[in-house]
Amino acid sequence: MLPPKIITHLKNITGEENVFTTTADLYTYGFDASIHHRSPEVVVRPHATRQIQEIITVANKEKISIVPRGAGTGLSGQAVPLQGGIVMDLTAMNRIKKIRISDLYCLVEPGVVYANLNKELAKKGFFFPPTPGSGDVCTIGGMVALNASGMRAIKYGATRDYVLGMKVVMASGNLVTLGTYTLKNASGYQLERLMVGSEGTLGIITEITLRVFPLPTKRTLALATYSSLKKAGEGVSAVIAQGIIPSALEIMDNVCIKAVNKAMNLSLPNKEALLLIETDGMNATDEIQKIAAICKKTGADSITFTEDEKEMQQLWRGRKSVLPSLSRYGDNYVSVSLADDMSVPISQISKAIVAFQQIATDHGIIIGTYGHAGDGNLHTKVLLDPNSQDQWKQAEKAVDKIYHTVLDLRGTISGEHAIGISKAPWMQKERRTALQTMENIKKTLDKNNILNPGKMMQWKGSIISYLRYPWTKKEK
Ligand SMILES: Cc1cc2nc3c(=O)[nH]c(=O)nc-3n(C[C@H](O)[C@H](O)[C@H](O)COP(=O)(O)OP(=O)(O)OC[C@H]3O[C@@H](n4cnc5c(N)ncnc54)[C@H](O)[C@@H]3O)c2cc1C
Repeated sequence: MLPPKIITHLKNITGEENVFTTTADLYTYGFDASIHHRSPEVVVRPHATRQIQEIITVANKEKISIVPRGAGTGLSGQAVPLQGGIVMDLTAMNRIKKIRISDLYCLVEPGVVYANLNKELAKKGFFFPPTPGSGDVCTIGGMVALNASGMRAIKYGATRDYVLGMKVVMASGNLVTLGTYTLKNASGYQLERLMVGSEGTLGIITEITLRVFPLPTKRTLALATYSSLKKAGEGVSAVIAQGIIPSALEIMDNVCIKAVNKAMNLSLPNKEALLLIETDGMNATDEIQKIAAICKKTGADSITFTEDEKEMQQLWRGRKSVLPSLSRYGDNYVSVSLADDMSVPISQISKAIVAFQQIATDHGIIIGTYGHAGDGNLHTKVLLDPNSQDQWKQAEKAVDKIYHTVLDLRGTISGEHAIGISKAPWMQKERRTALQTMENIKKTLDKNNILNPGKMMQWKGSIISYLRYPWTKKEK
């Protein structure tokens, strides 16, 4: 518990109603959507940049850690406060301040929810495309801090591709403006880019300028089924190699198909794998027909496509439900985010998914594989009994092999969910030549190490720590 004078100071800054200290509140804010948990000592919910500056100034002086937080949907423990300290809930800063279609940008506060922004942009025929699966709840601040993306990244890119500028409160309490309101900018270091993917470790983002894009006039969606996972992977590379860039190209293996059918009462074809392929724009129908022919030629058992909005929504519902459905796969299993988000060069997809399956078999665990195969980004979820220490140990070994496979294939250990705790040891391997530079940047911008300490390059030890599951709970 922090000294009462600090709590009083925070209450003076934000108002008593925006400072939370009950055990229930602190316990709740100790989670995100990862396997980790640690309660903070206080939660504070600012409503203005000025308040954030004052809070951070106090924290810096007293050397208290601060973890900024959006919706808490991060999958790698980024918003879990490893040192207790302050969790700063930014969801009250949720104003869309400007939409300037004539300049192709919008200006938002960090707590704006992705789907709410797109609802407003759609009224003007525009959108902010990254489309994370959590888009109905996650915040733009969280998306920028993790460089989130999703199923449309193959055609439209990730959050970083849309960030034109931002305002950031630094650990010193200073407010800095980074980037511009223009589409082009070659004016000095691209520091707004440095903040993208910084996971709350370099500053607190209080305003973001995002590029917006016109909504496509039309979409079509194809469903291709396969009796071999390897062939499905080969189908992905074959489609891309033809020079047609779909607006989404998703893969689901049989574990995922079964889990979704069971949990959502759907009837997706019970095959080894399926691909969902979307095209958009004026040539959508023509392109999907060409893609269908390629899939057929490269081993799809069946391929159907639709332009009916309801049917498309139903198919996407199946895909978007994979993550929550996996925990319903078997009676004692939960789905845990381990090795959940790697990217490989597109031509290596097939090798990667076949290797993941073999690793699961070798370790006697169940792994579901799905993801944005079209851009090489695969998700695996390990299904295990969280009360079995043996399964956790096997899972950790399997994860290590998965990441080494990915690195051997010239991939990256995170395509979109970022590092936090769960991927830190492997990021440290992948980025070993850059780690000292990262640490130097961190030290320069946050000399007291108060901003989300202990994550990314600072994490030490096994990721099977600070688990949210009761048997290993190690609250300090
Ligand atoms: C069901 C489900 C589906 C998902 N699908 C996807 C997907 O398709 N693609 C994808 O990329 N991710 C996905 N995710 C992961 C996650 O939803 C995204 O990364 C999302 O962008 C996190 O946003 P958030 O508001 O929940 O951030 P949080 O989890 O609250 O925070 C994430 C990080 O951002 C930092 N942060 C938050 N706000 C600020 C700020 N204002 N300034 C500085 N740092 C800040 C935090 O300190 C933390 O390090 C999914 C998660 C779930 C649970």
